[in-house]
Amino acid sequence: MRIDIITLFPEMFDGFMSQSILQRAQQKGLATINIHQLRNYVSKTDKHKNVDDYAFGGGAGMVMSCEPILNCMEALEKEVKYDEKIFVTPDGEQLKQDRVNNLSLKGNILILCGRYKGVDQRIRDNFITLELSIGDYVLSGGELAAAVLTDSIVRLIPGVLSDESSALLDSFQGDLLDAPVYTRPAEYKGMAVPEVLLSGHQAKIDEWRYQKSLEKTKERRPDLLKD
Ligand code: SAH
Repeated sequence: MRIDIITLFPEMFDGFMSQSILQRAQQKGLATINIHQLRNYVSKTDKHKNVDDYAFGGGAGMVMSCEPILNCMEALEKEVKYDEKIFVTPDGEQLKQDRVNNLSLKGNILILCGRYKGVDQRIRDNFITLELSIGDYVLSGGELAAAVLTDSIVRLIPGVLSDESSALLDSFQGDLLDAPVYTRPAEYKGMAVPEVLLSGHQAKIDEWRYQKSLEKTKERRPDLLKD
């Protein structure tokens, strides 16, 4: 899979993309993540050399201009055909696991990060194929949202996680939240691990996990339970 991210702040991705799962995915050749500096795509003829401008109609806040974004997208699209061109934005479709699962099956994805008041609506109307929000709150820029999206997608690519079945049991893959987890020691400062987990009886362990998942989901996220 190839993911291209367009941003005004490429350095923000440095640490994030070069650690842990995202690093491993790239080293194994399972994902290529390219970060593109939008400023490099300001037209030479633009004497202002700006990536943003005042909003028509007035009001506080700058708006990201069409031209650099389009220059950048056109340059990339000479090399690659995208399955999805995503703009991360608080008024987009709220990101859920089923959308992430679907995106993890794609070949090439473009992600545009907004800043300021956002991007000129004409880009959104004519060149973006999917708008995604990571939650009902406003960030100062799309970089964190793009990082969240990239991480959630790349960990699902087969071969990225050491045990793929682990991702299938996570919260939101089915209708239930994940069960509680414990590790050694079996007793720590007087706090014991539930007996059943030490029993070695797999059917009983599975049943316990299912019951715990169900209890937790009923309590915290009854909206996830269909019946
Ligand atoms: N005026 C806009 C917010 C702009 S915030 C509005 O009220 O809808 C600046 C940029 O940060 C956005 O263009 C978007 O790319 C990013 N951003 C902020 N919050 C986000 C969220 N919850 N999900 C995804 N992207 C977000």
